[in-house]
Amino acid sequence: MFPSGCVTGRDGSKKRLPDHEARVCAFDEQPKKPAKGWIWSRRRELLSSARFMHELGLMSEAVRMALEAASAQGAQRVTGIRLRVGTLSGVVPEALQFAFDLVTARTTAEGARLEMERIPAVWRCFACRGEFQTDDPWPRCPACGQTRAELLQGRELEIASIEVM
Ligand SMILES: [Zn+2]
Repeated sequence: MFPSGCVTGRDGSKKRLPDHEARVCAFDEQPKKPAKGWIWSRRRELLSSARFMHELGLMSEAVRMALEAASAQGAQRVTGIRLRVGTLSGVVPEALQFAFDLVTARTTAEGARLEMERIPAVWRCFACRGEFQTDDPWPRCPACGQTRAELLQGRELEIASIEVM
């Protein structure tokens, strides 16, 4: 469920990251406090302060890992970061992008591209063992109507690859 990430150089060479560095897990983190007002008025349709702090913390950690991985390879700059984002990961992609722009400013990843691959939620029914896809966190099996199912994918929030030069 959690494939390792890798670093991709401009020449196409790939290097695996250690498993513990290759993913950012967000599953158990929920904002502790209710939102209090909006922080950037132009984003107010998307982001409350509590909501955004969640994505900011995650992105800050992801960029830190990317910069470390790039520097360990002797790369001058990080030019792109690709994330795998499950539809049930609990993050808002627009908030991730906004956080990315903030946390990469004045680093060697400034101006880098952020790509997000959306991973759909896939479930396996406990009763009939059928697999089905829905982003509903309380799914109902379309084949047998059971409401108990195991989530096979869809919670991912991990670094897939990093482009450096
Ligand atoms: Zn079923």
